[in-house]
Amino acid sequence: MQLTPEIKAQLAEQKKQCIFCKLIAGEIEAKTVFQDDVTIAMLDINPIIKGHTLFMLKEHYPIMPYIPAGEFTHYFGLVPALTHAIKEGILSTGINVFIANGGPAGQRAPHFLIHFLPRENGDGFFNFMFKKNASLEEENIKILANNFPIMMNNHFQRNPASWHTGKGNVPSYLTGIYESTTVVYEDEKVLCVIPHKGAAPGHIEIYSKIEEKNIEKLSVDDSAHLFYTASFAATLVFEGLKVHGTNIILKSGTSDDNPQGKLCIHVLPRMQNDNLQNIVWEPKQPKYDLNSVASKIKDKTWKIKYTEETKVSPIVKPSVIQIKEITPKSTFDEIQKAIKEIQKD
Ligand SMILES: [Zn+2]
Repeated sequence: MQLTPEIKAQLAEQKKQCIFCKLIAGEIEAKTVFQDDVTIAMLDINPIIKGHTLFMLKEHYPIMPYIPAGEFTHYFGLVPALTHAIKEGILSTGINVFIANGGPAGQRAPHFLIHFLPRENGDGFFNFMFKKNASLEEENIKILANNFPIMMNNHFQRNPASWHTGKGNVPSYLTGIYESTTVVYEDEKVLCVIPHKGAAPGHIEIYSKIEEKNIEKLSVDDSAHLFYTASFAATLVFEGLKVHGTNIILKSGTSDDNPQGKLCIHVLPRMQNDNLQNIVWEPKQPKYDLNSVASKIKDKTWKIKYTEETKVSPIVKPSVIQIKEITPKSTFDEIQKAIKEIQKD
């Protein structure tokens, strides 16, 4: 997304007040567990679960669509390596990656970040135990199914990928999903569906066609593509269904709310005061020493290094598809509104 001079000025102002920018700059002490030139991971000082880690870009971006492609790939490409390190450090069987887009979805600061929550059976964390009883009207399913491939096509035109030629194959572990849902987008690496009954109308599930269960087994490029898809799904429901915010919740590996340990990203449309309020938690004081948790994770993260060569090199292909953009003006307005929403909190 191109930032106008007005937005740039607004961001510079926001940045001066940003607590995470201060933590990143070292003006406030942080429990840092990993960093490189572009990204930084630190323990949440009010953890909801042991090993609760915040991962962010060092540059200040309030929302996901502002992150430039190069940084997006670097950042989300590191998710598998960080997951592996956190799971090893905490000795957990599963992980959640949690993202709140907008105030109504629980975004508390205007510095975009993701939460890593290490999970295991019996950990007592039930926020992501969804009651699936909402369905989406046929006409709205059509809006999402028509526009999702258009957005992804636009993405591939901006960021060509040599591996992408079409819909790809169906791994056997996903055959049941095709039967019980409506497919809204698929390519060689991801399958995006609307379940007949979701946690909210417009709930989208995104599966990896590369890996059934463990996010840490994905390559940099596969992980970045999975999160690109989730980001577009979030923008799609935000715009297409006119909701107030979105949550992106990745489940991977076993926990009480994911007994088979399947890898899936849930994109949840959020409205002010909807019945998904219990997804977001209140800050808690830890009853254990955060420094010892930080050192256990740091013992595993020191060898993480982002390498470009794990990415697939792009090949530019001519395009013959006529694509209708979904109202860029309204995207801009909605995002501005979302930023204001965050600032209110
Ligand atoms: Zn910031």
